[in-house]
Amino acid sequence: MTVSGIGVSPGIAVGPIRVIVHLSVDEPVSATPQEVFAALNAVADDLERRAETIELEVAKEVLGAQAMIARDPALVEAIGARLTDDISYSDVRPAIAEAFAGFRDALLSLGGYFAERVADLDEIADRTLAVLSGQETTGLRLTEPSIIVAQDLTPADTAALDLNFAKALVVAKGGPTSHTAIVARGLGIPAVVGAEGVMDLADGTRVLVDGREGIVIVDPTESDISGREVREETLRARAASVEGPGRLADQTPIALMANAGNGKDAVAAAAAGAEGIGLFRTELLFLDRDDEPSVDEQVELYRAVFDAMAGRRVVLRTLDAGSDKPVPFINAIHEDNPALGVRGWRLTRSANDVLNRQLDAVAAAAQASAADVWVMAPMIDVPAEAAEFAYRARERGIRHVGVMIETPAAAILADKVLAEVDFGSLGTNDLTQYVMAADRLDSRLSDLTSSWHPAVLRTIGIAASHAKTLARPLGVCGESAANPHLAAILVGLGVTSLSMAPSALAEVRGFLAQVDRATCERVANQVITLSSAEEAEAVALDILGA
Ligand code: PEP
Ligand code: MG
Repeated sequence: MTVSGIGVSPGIAVGPIRVIVHLSVDEPVSATPQEVFAALNAVADDLERRAETIELEVAKEVLGAQAMIARDPALVEAIGARLTDDISYSDVRPAIAEAFAGFRDALLSLGGYFAERVADLDEIADRTLAVLSGQETTGLRLTEPSIIVAQDLTPADTAALDLNFAKALVVAKGGPTSHTAIVARGLGIPAVVGAEGVMDLADGTRVLVDGREGIVIVDPTESDISGREVREETLRARAASVEGPGRLADQTPIALMANAGNGKDAVAAAAAGAEGIGLFRTELLFLDRDDEPSVDEQVELYRAVFDAMAGRRVVLRTLDAGSDKPVPFINAIHEDNPALGVRGWRLTRSANDVLNRQLDAVAAAAQASAADVWVMAPMIDVPAEAAEFAYRARERGIRHVGVMIETPAAAILADKVLAEVDFGSLGTNDLTQYVMAADRLDSRLSDLTSSWHPAVLRTIGIAASHAKTLARPLGVCGESAANPHLAAILVGLGVTSLSMAPSALAEVRGFLAQVDRATCERVANQVITLSSAEEAEAVALDILGA
């Protein structure tokens, strides 16, 4: 039996599972407001103590943030306002739940990274009730190397675990930016999130976790284990043995670049040997901003990335605000269906001046820097949008103007869309969600949101053949570029550069160095004839000898 989810940290681990069951208080809890406030304080003290003792920096930060929420006067006030008489004192659970609900809804409506913090919030409420009802809150004790399984892993769970014994993390919920994913990458252990069904497994069940493929195999056979271990080891060994710019075995250059959100990321990318930044996600700088940054302030922020990449290419993306990345000062209007709404370049409809000012800042920063700055717009759907963007960018002296291809319309009409600009970049995260009509953040749909799906690969192939006819460079900057085997298929489909998290560069470089273009093309042509993502991946691995 196999449970599938989303692989968020590569590697193979085999062992017994230990299931973390969260605290739950099913009986009425009677308390006075003072007792509730004291319990909140005790929870905050406990979280702060754990933050001090845990070594992992990211876990420290989240625990500190949780403690701050538990001490937030607005929360205390909201609970106090609901505890007004003997009836409310006799069971404080509804008052606590309602007070937290307001904060919860606010996080959920922000979406993306913020929505994934809801589990952290829920945990504070659970712990407060546990303190009031005298329950143990110290969590699971590990005594042997184990695979940690949970509905969702909270920072306090992680802080309570002896991470030396954690071989892998598997959670039923969560997404690629959840706490579980961050902690696993920090520890360098495999992790799978969104593995619906994993909580049905009994404590102690022996499983194999493949954090690259995003699967959990129950009672694995020796051949399941050895095949996967060999593949991982080969990827790592090749990664360690190849250096320099990205090349196929026949010396075809494939530029390997990194994705970045700020100057610090760009410095890390340079250290990891990135040939440039293939995707600078500018909206990430402003996710917490209620007001628009001035042009001067923007110039400074963009220059931090450009300057870290002096002499190299930086592909800056204009604000992709909206959907999973709402920016408060630009996405003010509630949308029922934000992924299909006014996001990315479409914001020219409601916030035209903001995008114009961003282009002014980008042009000024590019002018003042020694990086080779290319600029592209996200969510371009039709040729007229590409033409409008190109006009505005060129008018400001920006020399390399491009578009992201992340909708089926843009891919199918790439002959018209790319004719308006100098280059294209396939955003395969969104392209996959739109081709498959499956929300990229919904872990229940993880089987449909694989970029290995032949429907997605054929769409990429259409765009790539148009790019080739027009002699336009076409990169990939979605997560698919970080998978070494899928990267070979993308190259076979005609993609000319790949951009990924800096941590993925070495493995992709190492794998591509031992396949030639003819093999990449042969495998790509074969997998697009198949019917499912699983088949495509299995056939590709087989032919690639991986
Ligand atoms: C993508 O959609 O693949 C992409 C790179 O953009 P983002 O993930 O920021 O939407
Ligand atoms: Mg996108």
